[in-house]
Amino acid sequence: MVSVIVPVYSEEETLPSLFGRLLPVMDALGRPFEVVFVNDGSRDASLPLLLQEYRKRPDVVRVIDLNGNFGQHMAIMAGFKAAKGDIVITMDADLQNPPEEIPRIVACIDEGHDVVGTIRMHRKDTLFRRTASHVVNWLTNRITGLTLHDYGCMLRGYRRDIVDIINEASETTTFIPALAQKFSVNPVEIEVAHSEREGGVSKYSLFRLIRLNFDLMTGFSLVPLQAVTMLGLLVSVGSLFFALFMFIRRLWVGPEAEGVFTLMAINFLLMGITIFCTGIAGEYVGRIYQEVRHRPRYIVRKFYAPGAETMEEDTNEQSGCVRL
Ligand code: UDP
Ligand code: MG
Repeated sequence: MVSVIVPVYSEEETLPSLFGRLLPVMDALGRPFEVVFVNDGSRDASLPLLLQEYRKRPDVVRVIDLNGNFGQHMAIMAGFKAAKGDIVITMDADLQNPPEEIPRIVACIDEGHDVVGTIRMHRKDTLFRRTASHVVNWLTNRITGLTLHDYGCMLRGYRRDIVDIINEASETTTFIPALAQKFSVNPVEIEVAHSEREGGVSKYSLFRLIRLNFDLMTGFSLVPLQAVTMLGLLVSVGSLFFALFMFIRRLWVGPEAEGVFTLMAINFLLMGITIFCTGIAGEYVGRIYQEVRHRPRYIVRKFYAPGAETMEEDTNEQSGCVRL
């Protein structure tokens, strides 16, 4: 059985064409399947649209309605918990990932790979996003020791054993492609097509993108912290030489009062480095803080699936619903 997980955050403009393309591809696959839509606190008509589709195809469509916006990766985590497939595919709701690529991913898992990563060909994003991704991919590989070519592409496939391990990982913020790569023993990466968004706008502001990438870098490695220590060491050694130089110059040339602004510039630079390093240490402290609070990572308001009414009575919907 194949499960497809689609996180949805205010995607009313693209959902109708997503249903129109994804379900025929899955029907044509000739295997049992389910599509798990996770409504991540949408503020538009996404949920009614999803429920309408659920009523049309209750045999294959499932809807998890989260109690707020928990972010794309947490939405997928909720999907992983509910997915029943032996093969689990994740994809975006905005049709930037063509559903027509799914059979190729399934074929790779059939061949024996446990994680199928993807690389977006001819990526249709802004130049800024593409350049930033390039830097992030390179830096992340250096920092984490993983080797992935495109961390950002969420059209991916996972075998059941990998999904089970991911379900056991209970960290509060995570980055699913990197997490899966950590657990994989036989991963593969394939090239997939990429399109422009069908409608609506990207749900990632610059701030959210920076946050997400901090999660990726601090969530999978201690290298940033170690780099900070090394930088501190380097600056100290440099300063020692500089102080020695100034001492000898004092004996040689005598007292000098010039260079106040040079001194200020050096001071500001070092202050900047100090604040940056405190920030990096703070990122890790923040992560620890989030972990020790033990709050739920996401809250499911309702899970729409046939037969679920046996677990909890529901008076609002004709269909069965259950609190997970
Ligand atoms: N998404 C989500 N929760 C969020 C942000 C995004 O579920 O808080 C979903 C969104 O609906 C889409 C996918 O994650 O299905 C990717 O988002 P988007 O296309 O905005 O990201 P981009 O392609 O710009 O990286
Ligand atoms: Mg997108």
